[in-house]
Amino acid sequence: MGLAFSLAMAPATVALAHEGIEFHNGQWFDGEGFSSGTRYVVDGVITQARPAQVTRREDLEGRWVVPAFAEAHNHNLQNAWGARRSREMYLRDGVFYAAMMCGDSDSNQAVRDTLAGQDAPHVVFTACISSSDGHPLGMALRSYRETDPEIGADAIHDRSYVVMDTPTDVETKWHLVQAARPDLVKAILVHSEDGSRRGDPELYGVNGLTPDVLPVLVQRAHADGLRVAAHTESAADFAVAVAAGVDIVAHLPGYNFWPGKDASDYRIDDATIAAAAERGVVVIPTASIAEASAKDRERLAAIQAMQLDNLSRLKAAGVPMAMGSDRFTATSIVEYDYLLGTGLFSRGELLRMLSVDTPRLLLPDEAVGCVDEGCVASFVVLDTNPLAVDDAIHAVVTRVISGRMIEIE
Ligand SMILES: [Zn+2]
Repeated sequence: MGLAFSLAMAPATVALAHEGIEFHNGQWFDGEGFSSGTRYVVDGVITQARPAQVTRREDLEGRWVVPAFAEAHNHNLQNAWGARRSREMYLRDGVFYAAMMCGDSDSNQAVRDTLAGQDAPHVVFTACISSSDGHPLGMALRSYRETDPEIGADAIHDRSYVVMDTPTDVETKWHLVQAARPDLVKAILVHSEDGSRRGDPELYGVNGLTPDVLPVLVQRAHADGLRVAAHTESAADFAVAVAAGVDIVAHLPGYNFWPGKDASDYRIDDATIAAAAERGVVVIPTASIAEASAKDRERLAAIQAMQLDNLSRLKAAGVPMAMGSDRFTATSIVEYDYLLGTGLFSRGELLRMLSVDTPRLLLPDEAVGCVDEGCVASFVVLDTNPLAVDDAIHAVVTRVISGRMIEIE
């Protein structure tokens, strides 16, 4: 009876589904190049088959259609205030997927509530894990003390991030990770090889997990089907992360040099790079933050030489990379510009990273990062050819998000 009923209902449903928007005279990106043609958007999905009813026809006038961009490392949409402030910036830039790399249970829920029912980037949520004296404690204390000078670490521990000081904390605190309903687990390492940092009051709040915690954490996360992204700062952190089995490294080591450290502390060794390539660990370089954090031009030059050394060997080894900026006032677009400026990547390689590889990294179970048959209809139209013009990705003229054309003032 139930089956007969649903069969009888099917034609009405199908008729509705055959109504769509036509985009003709476009050039569509396939991850390598462009080919001209017409696509339709029906029920939020791209199809090449003309639906029975076309409700709107858009002439793309030969412009370039690429999958919506993604941001793999940021904090702009990590709380309700940030989500209100930055939502439109993401839409304007065409960045429709964004991973917020230090989430917690309350903030994640507040962001879900804030963005519900509006056109907004798809936020990839995390649960952030560090040590009791670790980053982001120092940052959080500084900001909380602007309004309450007496506030202590207790207000931040297991609230703004989950504290795991020993391997046994992983199991006992795991419910706090689950409470954040994360898409990814974020683990913080900051010169984890240097035990002398722990006793230094100057470094209270800017440390991270000890190396023995990470493999236990990765195992626990994987048992729940969650991937782990590691914040690394030193070459040793990178090696600890790869050996622990993390899925993603969220910073290229050496985006800044800590006091008393030099280039040798940040150069990733070839064996570790080979291991990262073999395991398919994805690296998010966030290289452009060097510009924002280096204290002078001489230091910046040293950092950039280090970045070129690490990036060129990672690339040569075939380590996959994703686009992330970690910039408070910007999106992954600035990372594209910065990486293009290194001369290590072609425009095509970077466009693929921004619009194909990074969306797929963030949403591995969805048909994103493509503008072909069956793909999610989230794409942007560019005014100039991004394979020929450096700043073409800045000229977004049309935005379609989950099948809806959106207008931005
Ligand atoms: Zn970050």
